[in-house]
Amino acid sequence: MQLPATTAAVLYDLDGTLVDHDHAARAGVDAWCRELGMSGGQWERWSDIEQRWFSRFENGRISHLGQRIGRCREFLGRPELGEAEALELYEFYLAVYRENWRAFPDAAPSLDNALAAGLKVGILTNGAQVMQQAKMESTGLWREGMVMCATVEIGAPKPQPEAYLGTLERLGVTAEEAVMIGDSWLNDVAGARQVGMTAIHLDRGGDSAGSIGSLDEIVWG
Ligand SMILES: [Mg+2]
Repeated sequence: MQLPATTAAVLYDLDGTLVDHDHAARAGVDAWCRELGMSGGQWERWSDIEQRWFSRFENGRISHLGQRIGRCREFLGRPELGEAEALELYEFYLAVYRENWRAFPDAAPSLDNALAAGLKVGILTNGAQVMQQAKMESTGLWREGMVMCATVEIGAPKPQPEAYLGTLERLGVTAEEAVMIGDSWLNDVAGARQVGMTAIHLDRGGDSAGSIGSLDEIVWG
C-alpha cells in the first residue's frame, strides 16, 4: 500500500500492531489463574472483560487505573475488593504480561523503513506512557528520534479527536501530512480519518478489502 506523497509523519498504534498484546495477556491471565487457584482456560472471559473496561476508559467514563481495578474485581468475582488491593492483585498479572511481550516480526523492519524514508515516527497508544515505553524498549523496537505519544498523558484516549490532534502538535505536522497505522478500526482508522488523517487498517491474518494483513505491505517512498 502506497503512502500519500504528502506524508511527513507516520503514527503507529502499539498493542496488536507492533507488539503481540494478546500473546502476553493470555500468558498473564493463565499464570494469574494458577497463582490464585482458579480454573484455567479463562482467556476469552478475560479478553472480553478487558475490552469492556478498556472501552469505558476510552469513552472517558473512568480513569486508566479505574479500568484496571474494574477488570480485576469482575474477573475475580470480588466486587468488594478495595482499590489498592485490586491493583496489588493485578500486579501479578502485569508482571507475567510484561515478561511475555514480543514484537511482531514485521514491526522492526517497518519502523526502520519509515525512519529511513525520512519520516517522523510516533507511537500513538492508549496505554500508559511508562509501560508502553518499556514495552517498546524491551522488545527491541525503540529507535532514536521516535516520539512516544501515550494518550493517558495527552488527556484524551483514541478515538477522541484530542488524542490525534495532541499528537500531531507534538510531531509538528498537519493532519494531511500524517498517516495512522493500527489494528483497531475504531481507534486507528475511523478516529484518525475524522480529524483528516490518512489511516491504514492492519488486519493481521485477515483479508478484508482495504486493509493490510502485514506491515510489510506498506510501500515506502
Ligand atoms: Mg491496537
